[in-house]
Amino acid sequence: MDGKRLAATVRDEVAASVAELGHVGIATVLVGDDPASHVYINLKHKAAEAAGLEPRDHRLPPETTEADVLALVAELNADDGVDGILVQLPLPGHIDEATVIEAIDPAKDIDGIHPSNAGRLYLGRPTLIPGTPLGVMRILEEYDIPLEGVNACVLGRSAIVGKPMSQLLLQANATVTVCHSRTRGLDKHTRAADVLVAAVGRPHFVTEAMVKQGGTVVDVGLTRTGDGLHGDVHPDVAKVASHLTPVPGGVGPMTIAMVLQNTVTAARARRAGLANPAH
Ligand code: NAP
Repeated sequence: MDGKRLAATVRDEVAASVAELGHVGIATVLVGDDPASHVYINLKHKAAEAAGLEPRDHRLPPETTEADVLALVAELNADDGVDGILVQLPLPGHIDEATVIEAIDPAKDIDGIHPSNAGRLYLGRPTLIPGTPLGVMRILEEYDIPLEGVNACVLGRSAIVGKPMSQLLLQANATVTVCHSRTRGLDKHTRAADVLVAAVGRPHFVTEAMVKQGGTVVDVGLTRTGDGLHGDVHPDVAKVASHLTPVPGGVGPMTIAMVLQNTVTAARARRAGLANPAH
């Protein structure tokens, strides 16, 4: 399943929406000098600019105080030219991530991580949803993967990937099993899965023997090692899976495209005076 090609389609859709809306602003906040975070922010800015959004790039030194980050977030919340706010995680240890996330206006929370948005997702109400699980759902839709009534297994339970992923699959009427580091008999769960989403962060963790014959496998994992970028899924899984996302070129490009789509969704909702964005 080609996420790179589909991401280009989503970015075209975003560009058409931006042209229609006239102006869509996206602000990013990066604190510190984590090289991976700078790479992610650069990719997001490049994609935002190419789709016609107006990006604002806030890069703050590692010693920035929590109060200063909160002041910047408050400024961006109040700025009518900013439709979406993205605070790159992780933040340095002296800054409380939960406090910063809760300070973001939920209507501009294009990462879908504010507790109010996470709660709305849990309740099945319209909201801003994290880009990665949203991108996975778009991939599954694009390739006509049936979800209703099937067994779906999500490996990982993080707030940004595993949990929202399981909620979206549940909303699509799959029977969802969420596995994590304490799960006993993991293979039994993964082998029963018609759709398996791996978001563990361990290179080649999912082997051929763990996958159902003819199953669909989505590889969210991204781990950089000395010999390149690796997913959570071993390449041999291609021998048993009917559908599989590659790494790179699978979920990664979709995540960025969906964050841009969320910005358009947030912009439309604000312009329409809606309290909450609707998908
Ligand atoms: P995370 O917060 O570290 O969560 C990892 C999850 O995997 C946890 O729930 C953990 O269980 C579980 N886990 C760890 N070891 C396990 C094991 N041996 N068996 C079963 N479960 C195990 O990571 P994340 O933020 O969700 O990200 C996961 C991966 O996706 C990473 O490689 C990350 O780089 C990648 N990612 C990619 C994109 C993209 O755009 N493609 C976006 C976001 C993340 P516990 O909860 O019990 O600790």
